[in-house]
Amino acid sequence: MARTNMQSTRVKPERSELLVLHVLRRERISTGFVRITLGGGDIAGFAPLGFDQWFRLFLPVGGGEGALSRLPAKLDTFAYARYLTMSKAVRPVLRNYSVRAYRPDGADGPELDVDFVLHGSAVDGTSGPAASWAETCAIGDAVAIIDEGISFAPAAGVRHVRLVADETGVPAAANILASLDPDVRGTAFLEIPHSDDAQQLTGPAGVDVQWVVRDDHHAVPGVLAGTRARLLPPPVERFYGWAVGESALAIAMRRHWVAAGVAKGDILFCGYWKSARR
Ligand SMILES: Cc1cc2nc3c(=O)[nH]c(=O)nc-3n(C[C@H](O)[C@H](O)[C@H](O)COP(=O)(O)OP(=O)(O)OC[C@H]3O[C@@H](n4cnc5c(N)ncnc54)[C@H](O)[C@@H]3O)c2cc1C
Repeated sequence: MARTNMQSTRVKPERSELLVLHVLRRERISTGFVRITLGGGDIAGFAPLGFDQWFRLFLPVGGGEGALSRLPAKLDTFAYARYLTMSKAVRPVLRNYSVRAYRPDGADGPELDVDFVLHGSAVDGTSGPAASWAETCAIGDAVAIIDEGISFAPAAGVRHVRLVADETGVPAAANILASLDPDVRGTAFLEIPHSDDAQQLTGPAGVDVQWVVRDDHHAVPGVLAGTRARLLPPPVERFYGWAVGESALAIAMRRHWVAAGVAKGDILFCGYWKSARR
């Protein structure tokens, strides 16, 4: 994971263990996103926390589903070192993803939606393993997850938020908006690669959601949303700033807020990924 202060703000789940889940559905929801719905298997062990809940996702890309059973039950430093000793040919791919939505009452039990950004293409081999898996997985395919909890942690009484994200942070931002109290105010700048990637989001009426469409497909994701967000003067009242996405966006937003006098504890910044184009 690129630069972040996540460790200092993280609310860990009560129980965090390896859960094997299966693909229930795959839906291309827009040009830039595919939604994978997971369930079955160990889903009863998953405890939804809302906000920007995220998890480690293991994809059995090379070693078949049997490789999942050889994974550690938790991901502490020791277990991670053990994971790295697995032969590369069979070691499941490990990436980080967010809970887009959780429904306790799906047709066949609880369901977890995960929205994957499609970058590059599985067909010509230009996408990463996770994006490629999401583009091509089949119903019934198994994955494993380890819940990592939430990082969005405003102090009690803070009722104003500013959310800034590129497309990789849209699923988490959507879950944050759905989790906020109805009286919360603020602004969300959400950058997307295509206009049809804008979604109908549920959230407090007082939070203004601004979709920022990136017309220049050579531009590094996040630059546009960051520029727009910095043009809006900070609110007079105390607010909580949450900035995630391409590493430079997260770092630039944190710098900007700190320079404007915002306390570091009122900011969560996290580089969700790092562009090779910088
Ligand atoms: C806490 C957390 C939560 C996250 N939640 C989500 C989520 O819900 N949905 C989501 O889509 N992503 C999410 N991400 C980001 C995701 O983990 C990364 O984008 C990841 O690198 C994708 O893995 P990959 O195997 O597809 O590509 P990788 O193998 O990691 O990367 C291959 C190449 O693709 C580039 N790349 C990676 N991601 C992107 C991208 N989005 N756009 C353009 N180029 C890219 C890399 O720079 C690299 O050059 C989250 C990250 C964190 C830390």
